[in-house]
Amino acid sequence: MVGSVETTGGPGGRRFDLVIVGAGFAGLYMLYRARQQGLDAVVIERGSEVGGTWYWNRYPGARCDIESVDYCYSFSPELVQEWDWTERYAAQPEILAYLQHVADRFDLRDDIVFERTLVRADWGEAERSWTLRLDDGSHLSCTHVVMATGNLSAVKPPSFDGLDDFAGEWFHTGMWPHHAVDWTDKTVAVIGTGSSGIQVITQVAPLARHLTVLQRTPNYSMPAHNRPLLAGELAEVRATFGERRRVCQLSDAGTPLPPPTRSAHEVTEDERRARYEEGWQRGGISALSGGYTDFFTEEQSNLWAQEFARDKIREIVTDPDVADRLSPRHHIGTKRTATDTGYFEMYNRANVDLVDVRDDPISHIEASGIRLESGRLVEVDVIVFAIGFDAMTGALADIDIRGTDGLTLETAWADGPRTYLGLQTAGFPNLFMITGPQSPGVLSNMVISIEQHVDFVADCLAYLREHDLDRIEASEEAQDGWVVHTRELAEGTLYLQARSWYLGANIPGKPRVFMPYVGGCGRYRTECETVVDNSYRGFVLG
Ligand code: FAD
Repeated sequence: MVGSVETTGGPGGRRFDLVIVGAGFAGLYMLYRARQQGLDAVVIERGSEVGGTWYWNRYPGARCDIESVDYCYSFSPELVQEWDWTERYAAQPEILAYLQHVADRFDLRDDIVFERTLVRADWGEAERSWTLRLDDGSHLSCTHVVMATGNLSAVKPPSFDGLDDFAGEWFHTGMWPHHAVDWTDKTVAVIGTGSSGIQVITQVAPLARHLTVLQRTPNYSMPAHNRPLLAGELAEVRATFGERRRVCQLSDAGTPLPPPTRSAHEVTEDERRARYEEGWQRGGISALSGGYTDFFTEEQSNLWAQEFARDKIREIVTDPDVADRLSPRHHIGTKRTATDTGYFEMYNRANVDLVDVRDDPISHIEASGIRLESGRLVEVDVIVFAIGFDAMTGALADIDIRGTDGLTLETAWADGPRTYLGLQTAGFPNLFMITGPQSPGVLSNMVISIEQHVDFVADCLAYLREHDLDRIEASEEAQDGWVVHTRELAEGTLYLQARSWYLGANIPGKPRVFMPYVGGCGRYRTECETVVDNSYRGFVLG
């Protein structure tokens, strides 16, 4: 066991009040809140360090796409004052250093067990506790479990035939090695043009001898306009941090940008283009999507912005054929929009090629490279798989979770995830998820959503203790209502038209169910507050 926490003792293992799985943004804050309440809590983490996403995704170019000053905790005013973000969008090493600092500053490491994976969880009704089995065969038990296992933490493994025969090196962006990769004089293929692919391409293209990008679906990418943060800017943010944070919490996406007030139909074409241009110059993930109220609900509103984005690609990319192949056709935002620094410009380099694997799919991998169905061989020394994750449900599906009467989560979610508020699933008492499916999570600044969920769970645990209760479970009825509500909200949008990971479309066999809550952080927060104000309406307490 790595870490100083003793987890053994007794047939079901040592009994804790709370076991938290995962030591990313969510798990660390959950432990902090549990400690404040004097709970006997422990974190189980597969990695050998804290950080979660920012521990695993060490690929060149990895950085956040929410501004650093917002992509951080707010629970400690001292922490806000003392941590100096250096860039508008912090790079992975800086975010990891921040989370390490948080772990040290609040002495969290003492209660984290590293290099252990939770493989099975069984609810015992008689004992009113969960028995957890770790990958080393050890057990522990607890009254409550919090799954802080992450939405983008179960990597989609490369499933190409022949990968074992490949003579070169290969990497997955979501499981990047800790050693530096030498790109000098190497021929490289990057498979995938989602957010990670786009980030890695801009870093590797200038270093490698040759880079081939294998693209299935072109993606929208907004300029980040990343830059160093000036001391004055940080001071200004700090001076009004509480207010800024409140704006984020009540917004749709968890960011401080003023919400749009008009439909794209209410303005002239010139006004629209001026607004898109202003967004493009400001940069960031919502550069275009933040412009008009009907952006996600009305096809034409989105189409106008798409045309603007495609014009930008044509302006940047000098070869019209390449520009065309890089031009996305889906509605902006219905697949995760990327942000970049010089992404489209990379295709003007003589050492970068674009291969469209929708037209000419990958057949298999062989010793010297990637063989396409046309027979063409893309010869490479290094392959980077930027193929993403089994998002939102993957990390939970990897654990054999058994609730009341042996009901497995796999069975309960056979037709797609079913939750109440994205926090609990009926049949799994005392088990909470942080940013679970059917909560705003991945459509928001996730730290805003994480803090809100952790606060909900921590306050709920305190409420149970105050009322001498030790069991809480979402009712089937409340869950059914929430599932219908989240589906109806999504049906009123353009989201359902894209084959996105929000819908599980990137994972063969995964039910095609739209998983995030599209109502926005502010509305969702109000829903949760109403539930609490009504003595946890929709949950059965005992
Ligand atoms: P994670 O950080 O994913 O942590 C979960 C932890 O649980 C992991 O360390 C994992 O090892 C552990 N774990 C999982 N299962 C088990 C198990 N069975 N046993 C033991 N341990 C387990 N979000 C934004 O809002 N803005 C951004 O700019 C942004 N950029 C991103 C960039 C990348 C490359 C990626 C992949 C994601 C990004 N995200 C971003 C989403 C990001 O995942 C969240 O913002 C946030 O870091 C999630 O924190 P978390 O604690 O919920 O989960």
